[in-house]
Amino acid sequence: MPISTAHKNYDVAVIGGGMIGPALAIGLAERGMKVCILDEGDDVLRVARGNFGLVWFQGKGFGMPRYVEWSRRSAKLYPSFAAELKENTGVDIGHANPGGLELLLGDEELAHRRHFIGQIYQQGGGNEYEVEFLDRKQTESMLPGIRLGDEVVGASYSPIDGHVNPLFLLRAMHTRFQQLGGTYLPHHRVSGVVKNGQAYDLQTAAGTVSAPKVVIAAGHGLRELGPPLGLNIPIRPQRGHILVTERTQQILPMPMSAFRQTREGSIMLGVSAEEAGYNDMVDTATIAKIAQRAGRIIPALRNLNIVRTWAALRVLTPDKCPVYQESQSHPGIYAVASHSGVTLAAVNAKVASGWIADDPAPEEFEAFSSERFNAQKTA
Ligand SMILES: Cc1cc2nc3c(=O)[nH]c(=O)nc-3n(C[C@H](O)[C@H](O)[C@H](O)COP(=O)(O)OP(=O)(O)OC[C@H]3O[C@@H](n4cnc5c(N)ncnc54)[C@H](O)[C@@H]3O)c2cc1C
Repeated sequence: MPISTAHKNYDVAVIGGGMIGPALAIGLAERGMKVCILDEGDDVLRVARGNFGLVWFQGKGFGMPRYVEWSRRSAKLYPSFAAELKENTGVDIGHANPGGLELLLGDEELAHRRHFIGQIYQQGGGNEYEVEFLDRKQTESMLPGIRLGDEVVGASYSPIDGHVNPLFLLRAMHTRFQQLGGTYLPHHRVSGVVKNGQAYDLQTAAGTVSAPKVVIAAGHGLRELGPPLGLNIPIRPQRGHILVTERTQQILPMPMSAFRQTREGSIMLGVSAEEAGYNDMVDTATIAKIAQRAGRIIPALRNLNIVRTWAALRVLTPDKCPVYQESQSHPGIYAVASHSGVTLAAVNAKVASGWIADDPAPEEFEAFSSERFNAQKTA
């Protein structure tokens, strides 16, 4: 049964209480704005509760140097963002940035990764790009006590990479938002947004909420909400699987793109990428592949039981880079979408929120406009 809404007026209404909405909403509330978050329910395609928890820099931004800068900026803001969340909410999001590795099996993978990382470096026009390649011996020295599988030839390494507990991050952001005076409206699925004088009315089964500014941070919900508001942003689902082992002693000193050990001792294994439409069911063949690969990289992982698996759907744009777009036909309505909502939480809270609050748009935002997809279509 929907909880009834107090029909208050807000400065900004944020649609979506996943990873992106609360981060932006914190920043807006910190700027003194009256903000509400409307969220659907627990049975929707919500990615905030199904992700891997990496705050990841290496490999991001292929084809878009501005996204490299944006990811770096967020990673650098993370320590203070995490500390602020802990100080104010008591929730430790488990942020650590000891650097991160992508372990490579065989020469072909190494050559492919070198080529890919090299392209990102070159597009930066000689700017610093904090990713280096380690040979097997150097990789072993980063992972004391771990015997690597015979096929591991080395790794790419970035000192900027890190990780968090994404569920604690979600809880901390929601708590902080409400501490700052924000209103969270669960069970408020927005079915439509209509102009009403100077404001927009957001229609929900629990009542109408009005605000002059609206942020659509609704993950997959953007596909339905965006087009009537002039925000035709081509996002698609891409399924990823995650496996979790039983708890074990701390063996991984740093996260890797396919493994990370939680503070509690479980090891998370990921992450696949399948084009499966909106099907988020677990596919046993895929989880078997993930487990086999993990055993080839770190054979000791074969001794651990898998206690949980799930699949979730990434919110992917065609170039895998984020979108920050204000509607041209409906000024005051903004859409934000990204498949790195954990990584970008700090920069969304501290910088992107200013753009919605009428600060000048950050330099990166010209590149992040969804106009780039229209340009590709007409080219
Ligand atoms: C397997 C996997 C691993 C991942 N790993 C990482 C990682 O390691 N690091 C990283 O940075 N990112 C990772 N991600 C991506 C990250 O989880 C997403 O980028 C992030 O969750 C997107 O946030 P969002 O707010 O756009 O969407 P969501 O988190 O899905 O939140 C959207 C919210 O909007 C609500 N909503 C939708 N429609 C409506 C509506 N009409 N009315 C009201 N509410 C609505 C939904 O209920 C939901 O709560 C991963 C994703 C997957 C699938």
